[in-house]
Amino acid sequence: MPLVEPFRTATGETATKEALLVRVRGDAGDGWGEVAAFTTPGYAPDTIDTARLALRDYLLPALLAHGTLPSVRGHGAARAAVECALLDGRLRRDGVSLAAHLGAARAHVDAGVAIGFCDDVPRFGELLRSYVEAGYRRVKCKIEPGRDAAVLRAARRTVGDDVPLAADANGSYTLADAPALTGLDAFGLQCLEQPLAADALADHAALAARMRTPTCLDETVTSATVARDAITFGAGGVVSVKPARLGIAEARAVHDVCVAAGVPAVAGGMLETGIGRAVLVAVAALPGFTMTGDCSASDRYFGLDGDLTEPFVLEGGRLRVPDLPGLGVTVRHEQLERFTVARERIRAEDV
Ligand code: MG
Repeated sequence: MPLVEPFRTATGETATKEALLVRVRGDAGDGWGEVAAFTTPGYAPDTIDTARLALRDYLLPALLAHGTLPSVRGHGAARAAVECALLDGRLRRDGVSLAAHLGAARAHVDAGVAIGFCDDVPRFGELLRSYVEAGYRRVKCKIEPGRDAAVLRAARRTVGDDVPLAADANGSYTLADAPALTGLDAFGLQCLEQPLAADALADHAALAARMRTPTCLDETVTSATVARDAITFGAGGVVSVKPARLGIAEARAVHDVCVAAGVPAVAGGMLETGIGRAVLVAVAALPGFTMTGDCSASDRYFGLDGDLTEPFVLEGGRLRVPDLPGLGVTVRHEQLERFTVARERIRAEDV
């Protein structure tokens, strides 16, 4: 699916969204899930192709043979998509929305937008202005060494002092960069996301002790256990919860860890289609999400009519939480056909 413009971060560029979807059909219902992986392992270890193999050769045959998903290490994106499809099917059958199932009571969530690298300075300003005028309630700029203070200075000047501004380094700095990173305190950021490598817990704690800006952990948070450890060690003052990467149940568990520790959670996006976006928005409606995160309208990525489901649209700077059964969105089959390049079917009688 073509993106309205390429999305560039410290871990790579995405110009075309490639999606791998899972549809589970059977006695337990008919549901959809989206594999949150990219084509390369720059951001996370899973890729579209590794997830496809894990689904085809292991997870789905085992599910069909035994009725439950097997215990596996890794392959979280593939597993999360099957869990989502099974849950969606069950909730659709039972007439319960995902938000209600999670106990998320908010009808709307605040919308935020992430902006990749854009070296065309006037274009960068134009983009920022257009998002703020559209109503986005938080702007997050991607940064990396050498592309940080100037980006944030321009962003702050453009959006003014009243719009929450965040930065996301995708783990591109080391603790040796602490002097440059503490300099970013001057921009009054809502948070600085994943400044250091995913496994650098002690270094994150050392950096956090030197900065006024709260450190937000994203790539670090691979489970509720890691989230609890990171918070205990003082490595993060905010946690980005990504249901696409963690799966719905584990995202809920990370949220609960944050609530118990009194740490704000932000909802983290992964360029989801409407299927994954429905999950993101439902999870973001939980009460522990006290900071505006990455929930963007569909047109920010896919244009007005480019998504696989009905679009999520801004309503006064917020997105409506779906309240229909399951994910609460409808897959538009003609749109799906338009973008489908391959399809594989695994049937119970074949395993
Ligand atoms: Mg991030």
